[in-house]
Order: sequence, then C-alpha cells, then structure tokens
Amino acid sequence: MSNTVYTFGGGASQQDSRARDKTVVGGKGANLAEMASIGLPVPPGFTITTEVCTSYLADGGFDDGLRSTVAAALAHIEGVVGKRFGNPADPLLVSVRSGARVSMPGMMDTVLNLGLNDETVQGLAAVSGDERFAWDSYRRFIQMYSDVVLGLDHGLFEEALEIAKEDNGFHADVEMGAEHWKALVAEYKSIAQQELGKPFPQDVHEQLWGAIGAVFDSWDSDRAKVYRRLNDIPGDWGTAVNVQAMVFGNMGDTSATGVAFTRDPANGDKAYFGEWLVNAQGEDVVAGIRTPQYLTRAAKEAAGAKQPSMEEAMPEAYAELAEVFELLERHYRDMQDIEFTVERGKLWMLQTRSGKRTAKAALKMAVDMVAEGLIDEETAILRVDPMALDQLLHPALDPDAPRDVLTKGLPASPGAASGAIVLEADIAEQRAARGENVILVRVETSPEDIHGMHAAKGVLTARGGMTSHAAVVARGMGRPCVSGASQVSIDLKTRTLQVGQRQLKEGDLITLDGSKGEVMAGEVPVVEPELAGDFAHLMEWADRYRRMKVRTNAETPEDCRKARQFGAEGIGLCRTEHMFFDESRITSVRQMILAEDEQGRRAALAKLLPEQRADFHAIFEVMTGLPVTIRLLDPPLHEFLPHGDAEFEELADVTGLGVDHLKRRAGELHEFNPMLGHRGCRLGITYPEIYEMQVRAIFEAACDVAAASGNSPIPEVMIPLVATQRELAILKQLVDRVAGEIFREKGRTLEYLVGTMIELPRAALMAGEIAQEAAFFSFGTNDLTQTTLGVSRDDAGRFLVQYVEKGIFPRDPFVSLDIEGVGQLVALGAERGRATRPALKLGICGEHGGDPASIAFCEEQQLDYVSASPYRVPIARLAAAQAALRAKQG
Ligand code: ADP
Ligand code: MG
Ligand code: MG
Repeated sequence: MSNTVYTFGGGASQQDSRARDKTVVGGKGANLAEMASIGLPVPPGFTITTEVCTSYLADGGFDDGLRSTVAAALAHIEGVVGKRFGNPADPLLVSVRSGARVSMPGMMDTVLNLGLNDETVQGLAAVSGDERFAWDSYRRFIQMYSDVVLGLDHGLFEEALEIAKEDNGFHADVEMGAEHWKALVAEYKSIAQQELGKPFPQDVHEQLWGAIGAVFDSWDSDRAKVYRRLNDIPGDWGTAVNVQAMVFGNMGDTSATGVAFTRDPANGDKAYFGEWLVNAQGEDVVAGIRTPQYLTRAAKEAAGAKQPSMEEAMPEAYAELAEVFELLERHYRDMQDIEFTVERGKLWMLQTRSGKRTAKAALKMAVDMVAEGLIDEETAILRVDPMALDQLLHPALDPDAPRDVLTKGLPASPGAASGAIVLEADIAEQRAARGENVILVRVETSPEDIHGMHAAKGVLTARGGMTSHAAVVARGMGRPCVSGASQVSIDLKTRTLQVGQRQLKEGDLITLDGSKGEVMAGEVPVVEPELAGDFAHLMEWADRYRRMKVRTNAETPEDCRKARQFGAEGIGLCRTEHMFFDESRITSVRQMILAEDEQGRRAALAKLLPEQRADFHAIFEVMTGLPVTIRLLDPPLHEFLPHGDAEFEELADVTGLGVDHLKRRAGELHEFNPMLGHRGCRLGITYPEIYEMQVRAIFEAACDVAAASGNSPIPEVMIPLVATQRELAILKQLVDRVAGEIFREKGRTLEYLVGTMIELPRAALMAGEIAQEAAFFSFGTNDLTQTTLGVSRDDAGRFLVQYVEKGIFPRDPFVSLDIEGVGQLVALGAERGRATRPALKLGICGEHGGDPASIAFCEEQQLDYVSASPYRVPIARLAAAQAALRAKQG
C-alpha cells in the first residue's frame, strides 16, 4: 500500500518519488519537499495526500490508520524542532495549509499558529521572552481558526480589533502591546463562545483534526467548484493538506515576512521583485493591513519610498534570500514566486512555484533564459501561451493613463481604439473617408455593417456574445470590439446614447478596451505593439520547429499586408462576398440578383467584372509567390437584397424597372432557411455566369500581376458547400475552361489549383470520391460545426453559454473545435481524401485555425496548413510549433 502521509524537512530526504509528485502531495507539498531536499531552510512538516482527501470525501470521514500515521509524522516535526505539540511549557505550533495539484483560489485559507490555547500561550511567552508576540499569535490564531474552520463571521473579530485600537487611540496593529492583545483574546473567546454556544476549542488535537477536515471539506465548497468549472479542473483530484512547524515573522524588528518573484512578472526584467513587512506574519503583506516595503534598494529608490528596503534593513537575510533566488531559478529553470519569513534574523522558505506573468514578461523571460543557458529553444517555445500573444499584437491603451470607465461589456476582440461615436455603418464610412477616427456603435451588427466596421477603429454593440457577428468579424479584421454592453441603449432619432446614468451623442469621443471589455469616455492614449526584439526571436524559433504552414484569412490588401508582416505564408481563405457589399457595387450586385434571366444577369456581371478584377489584382500584388485560396461566392443571395423603400427606389432608377416588380422578384428569392438554401456551389450550378465572372476576374488579375512583376501568385480556386463529387466535377470543369480561355487570351499559363471546402458531413463522408476532382480540401469548420451539431452559429447565443456552463460542451464549439465529434469528420475526410489522392493538400480555415487546441488537433491529423485571421497568425505559428514539439516528445 502507498503511503498516506509524507514528511519533509529536518535533513533526511524522502526516497519515495511520490513525496515530490504534485498529483500525490499537491503543488505546495511537492515544492516544499523539493526545496527541503536541495538543502534550503524549510520548516519541517508533513503532507497528507490528495488520495486521502478523495477517500475522506467519499467515506465521509478519516479512517483509523490515518490517526496513527499523522501522530508519527507529528513526532517527526517534534523531533526536528525539539518542541512538543501541546506542551504547556514550550509548545510546538504548526500551520495547516491546503494545496491541490494546481494553485486554486477557492480552497481553504491557511490557519497559522495552531496549537495555542490558554496554557500554551503562557509557555510561548516564557520561552520566547516576548509576551507581546505570544498574545499577538494567539489572537491571530483564534480569528483565523474561527473564520476558516468554525465558519464564524470574521467581521465580528475585525470589528472587535478596530474597537480595541480606537479605545487605545492606536492607528495600526503594531502599536498594540501585550496587554492589549491579551484583552482582545478574551474578547475573541467570548465572541466564539457566543456564536458557537460552547468554548473555543482548547484541545490542540481537536484543533488539528478540525483544520485537516476543513481543508478536505473545502475541496467541495461552492467557491472551489466554481473555480474548477471555470478552469477545467477535474473534481476527483482532491487537495493535499500540509502541516508545518511555524516560524515567526512577528517576533519584533529582526523578524519579517515577504513575497517575492525572482524576476519582474510585469515586464520580465531580470531584477528581484517583491515586498516584505517587518514584524508581521503570514499574509499581512498581501492583506494590505500596512503598506509593504520594497525588497531591493533599487526598487525602493525608483519608487521614491521612504521605508528601508530589506536589502538595507536586513542585509544578511537579504543576501541569503538572493542566493536562494538564484538557486531556485537554476533548479526549476523558471521564474519563481516565493514566500519567506525571517525569524530573529534567520531566513525560512515557505513556498515556491512558477510565477504567473504577463505576455510581455513571458516572452522576455523565455528569450533571456535561452541566452543565459537556463533553458533550450524548445522549452522556450513551449513556455509561452500562444493566446497570451494577443495582448502584444494590438495597440494597447497606455497603462499609466487615467480612465473614465462608462460601462463594461464582453472583451470580444482585443486591442484598443478611440474615436467619435457613429451610429450607422454608412456614416462611419463617410466620416472615416474624411480621415476621422470613428467607433461604430450598434445594438448588434449584420453583414450590411461590414463596410462601416472596416472603416471604424472599433466596434461597440449592446447585444451579442463572444461569437456574435460583431465579435467574429471584428476579430477577423483585427478591430477592437466590446460586445454585449447591455447598459448601452441607442436612440437613433435623437442620435444619442444612454450609458447607465450618462448621456452621449453621436460624434462624442469614446475609447474601447477590447481586451478588457471596457468602454471609456473621451480619448485614452495608446502605445503601439513591439514586434521586433523578443517577439521576433521567439517567432523565428517557432518557425524552425513547426511542420504546418500558417496562412491567413484575408480579403483586403491591407489585411494581406498586415498578415504578411505577422508571417502569413499565403491566404487560406479569401471570401469574395464582402467585396460585393461595397457601396459602389451593391447596386450592380442587386441588379444581377433580381434579373429575370441569364441575359440580365450577364449585363450586371459585366459591370462587376472590372471591379472584382481590381480586388484580386490588389491582393495578388501583395501575395506574389504565395498561394491564395479564393472562395467563390457563398452566401445566400437574399443577403444582398435591398431593404426599405429608398433602396428599392434607387434600384428602380438604375434598372428602369418598377419598384413593385423589384419587390415581387425579391419576394420570390425569400427562403425559409437560407443557410441551408440556395447558396454555395448551388449558386454556381444554377447561375454559372456568376462563377464564370469571378474566375475570369481571378485569372485575368493573376496574369496581369505575373506580367507586371514577373512573379505570380498561385491561385487556389475553392468551391464552397460541396456535398457530391458531381457538383465539384461540373464546377471544376467551369474553372478549367475559363482559366484556359484567359491563358489563351493573355498568352501565358499559371500554376493553379481547384479544390473544395469540406463543410458538410456528407462531403467528409464522401471525401474519397470528392478527392478525385479536388487538388485540395480546406476544412470549413465553421459550417461543418453548424451542420454537424445542427446548431446555427447566429442563433446559438441564446443557449450556448448555458451549455458550456453545464458542461454539455467543454468549450464554445465555434471557438474551439469539437474534436470528439466534428473532429471525427475532419479525420475521416483527411484519411479518405488522401487514400484517393496522396498529394491532396489539406488545410483548415474558419475561426478554429487560430485556436491553439484546434491547431494541435490539425497537427495530429497531419494537415498541411492552418489559416487564421491576420492578428491570429503569430498565435497560430507558435501553437503549430508547440504542437509539433509535443508530437515529437510523444
Ligand atoms: P496560500 O496558498 O493562500 O498562499 P499558504 O499556505 O501559502 O496560503 O499560506 C499563506 C502564508 O502563511 C504564507 O505565505 C506564509 O507567509 C504563511 N505561513 C504558512 N505556513 C507557515 C509557517 N509554517 N510558518 C510561518 N508562516 C507560515
Ligand atoms: Mg491565500
Ligand atoms: Mg502561499
């Protein structure tokens, strides 16, 4: 049978590797044992395993064996310290600390000074020769134990302390003397008596077991459950309990307690960073009872603080601490977050763990540590969270600038922007064309707002979630967006905006922080992202280790340029419908859609051809030498239809047809379920002239760019929403025919491919047949998710949040691929496609192409590339490298 308790400290190091295994003894226990085993000064103690917790919670109690095992472990501490637990003359005191595998707020708070009672407090006073210290410790203990273990309202105790200070005319706890603490202890005990109906426990063993049980019970507290759910922590891990000999930072001016990071967690500088307090205990530093002091002289001077730094006030203990920092960094090969206490000049280590850090700091530390020889490149690549890069890629608000926050919504698309409020897309476009910075504010956005969103610096919506139209499109465009700001109400008549109590009008300046979801009044200055230096280094390493290519989803030359700056190696998805919404063309598009016959459509398409050719020309110029996947028209035609009388009248003027006639035609195009209706390749089959025009535009532009630059892009013409081999066969023939015509006209040929999106379950199932016609597959996982789950992305907001909260979906399946379900279709499609055509090029486009978990899945499936929106390209590069490294490491 495995041990249930492991001791640490006191010289003898545990042989059993379980003693340093986080899954067995928790993170805190493992690191305490590890520090003790490398000879650092750690107060002795023992850890009760997480397995005991799990069986305690299942059985509803301790089993008998545990009592004797704990007694033996306590004897270990007594032996090392030379004091006995409960001895009235010279008592051993302990702390009881929880510690799960990962650090977890929501778990029980630590109880310090356990083992004090009316008798042992006298002994502690006598042995230490410091009565004030003894009674200070006792009052701390009663308050903590009452709060944490007995569940009494800590407000009662805090109030009593405040009254005691006031009665004595004191401002701070430190001014209290022995007699004041003694009186407060009496007061505390009577509060406990009153609340419990029985005395505060005097039996030290009852205290100990009470605390151990409370730690285990806290695993199932509501707070802990909520935290686990939000952070994907399994409920069956359980927590360990650490019981450890107390060391005292509250023994006067040669004692202290503190917390420190071995490097600056905000910017990554190689400089010790921390805070400490003289004559203090436990979490006084974090609790903010007194203002903590700086650790180093440099930090103190930089901040212009008056209180001495630890470096100055306790030079010897500080020097030892600095040595420990170096040793721990070398040992763990990472930045450490440390808790320590100095008792009468002697340093004790109470905790160490890898420190949390900002994205900027994570990058700098990873790159610096490679240069220092502390870690290798592979470790550096694996250490930076790809999603954290998001913080770095967008212009950010100056952290030092003041903010007048109006309201908060969802952090839908990161980055920051300031501009004038505009309430309509057309106005956004007009004002932006005049060089003004604008923020588009809408109840929610729709495809018709695209041009306004593009023109705006940022988007704010009152409704909609993280996957609303506004959120998805804004992320794609790299526009900051705050969505679902429910306090915002828009009045289009008065052109005003009510935000809570405040009123703003169109034209007023606001600022969005898309990373935090904050909306601020006025303009807050921004700082531009730094793409050189550490960022460039890490990306260069990532590129060396990744196997998959990274492309981008982009449809404007600006986005293409941005994506290339970010390292995109081609376009994985160029949607053509957005181009159709442009103000100058929408009329021709509508004319084409509402035409009665092919001839009418061709006339309208002839007007669109030069415009569309110009679009591709501009994109190809940016993308020469790289593959550009262009998806032919996909959305249901009704999305382009005119709305409202004004638009119908305008169209009537241009076409010479009557408004009534146009309205009747529009009515005929109505569909009950357009997403499953007349869209995708079905348009190309029924109205081949539309696709012919697009293909002509693509190849004419490609030939022109090739002629002008001597370097041509590689068009990959992609047919959307294919379900059968025959559909693709017909349309591939169309593409080849038109391409051939143009090559003859232009007197040159170009390399190009014809392929399809796999976005219907049938297409994945029939991939073997479809691959006979396709040179490439791009898994369109947005639609594939919709069609596999039978969930419309645009309507999912009403239930998806609850579905994720209830654990029905582990994550939003439109954000992170449903690997279990939709993933099977991707795997199947890839396998069957490759069986037919071994050289089949495979990629993924859609939101998932920028999601690290989905990218890891693509690596498993050995896809050739992922495609992500421009701002996600660096994230995808890093995630692809990590996936390749993890695959290599097994
Ligand atoms: P958390 O996980 O919330 O940080 P800890 O168990 O680390 O809780 O305890 C909080 C603080 O209590 C520690 O930072 C340390 O200062 C203090 N502490 C814990 N155990 C001891 C001990 N044996 N002696 C002195 N101080 C202790
Ligand atoms: Mg805490
Ligand atoms: Mg701690």
